[in-house]
Amino acid sequence: MLLLRIKYRLALLYKTILFQLGLGNHLLKNRYGERILVFHSLDFDGNTDYNSRFVSKDYFEALIQYFLEHYNLISLDDFYAQKFKKDMLNIAITFDDGLSNNYELALPILEKYKVPATFFITTIPENKKIIWSDFLDLVTYYTPKKEILFNGNYFRKNHKKEFAYQGITLKNYCTKLDYEKIKLLYEVFEEDWNNINSPQLETYWKLMSQEQLQEIAQNPLFTIGAHAMTHANLVAISKEKAQQEIRYSKTILEDIIKNKITAFAFPFGTYTDELVDHCEEIGFSKILLLDYNVEKDSRKSALKNRFVINPYISKNQLLACLLKGSYR
Ligand SMILES: [Zn+2]
Repeated sequence: MLLLRIKYRLALLYKTILFQLGLGNHLLKNRYGERILVFHSLDFDGNTDYNSRFVSKDYFEALIQYFLEHYNLISLDDFYAQKFKKDMLNIAITFDDGLSNNYELALPILEKYKVPATFFITTIPENKKIIWSDFLDLVTYYTPKKEILFNGNYFRKNHKKEFAYQGITLKNYCTKLDYEKIKLLYEVFEEDWNNINSPQLETYWKLMSQEQLQEIAQNPLFTIGAHAMTHANLVAISKEKAQQEIRYSKTILEDIIKNKITAFAFPFGTYTDELVDHCEEIGFSKILLLDYNVEKDSRKSALKNRFVINPYISKNQLLACLLKGSYR
């Protein structure tokens, strides 16, 4: 294990040095291919205090500039139609979750460079228009509480400042639960939320409005896709509820943008064959994952894997991993 890790570090270092020497294109040899990238959120300074889902808008713009110079940026539709350039890396940009920072910070950059993108939207039906994991990340960071009682278990803050019970973090614990249970988080941390809910923090949780979604949908550069309703792990809940989440998120979005929604991204990238079949049955022709569960799934043309942006490494390291197609 240790040897493998050293080998990995050395390989990454080698690639990073190549990039720093301006020899990154050398790596491109035999690295032609296709990638669908996943971003979640942009902010002004690439804050990773709350979670790993934010990169700064300047970093995003620098990446887009690099891609435009070296790679072929295409829409998700063209990606599925395999309209690739053979002699370079072909990239489609996607954003998951539907936070309004996508509209406020990413859209102006994408429009400036005329770069196509697809936005996968979580259609929360509750009054509280916030994704539970964004809520949990923020209250965990700001609460003075050292211990909380949730779903019959005491979760204590560990050395990483995460709430955990018997070695399982509260967030991971919630990815095994039904949304009816996850919702109890809002009660447990209600007081904390009231204390921290301020305009300065909105970037980290506020979802796009219907008007913003309509505006995006009307722009020929952009596409709206569905990302279920509650951001529960669809594999951990009943099949009926999971199918409902997939179906409703489609119809809710179609109602808003007055057009067909044909792309779906599984929350957390977790899925079952049955759920994939359901997606296809109800009219999703593009089904996006984060990692294939098993290799055989790569044979299904509707299913595509995606490469998630890692905010903890440098741009050169990210480019090296992107060329390789994985962080390993
Ligand atoms: Zn998501």
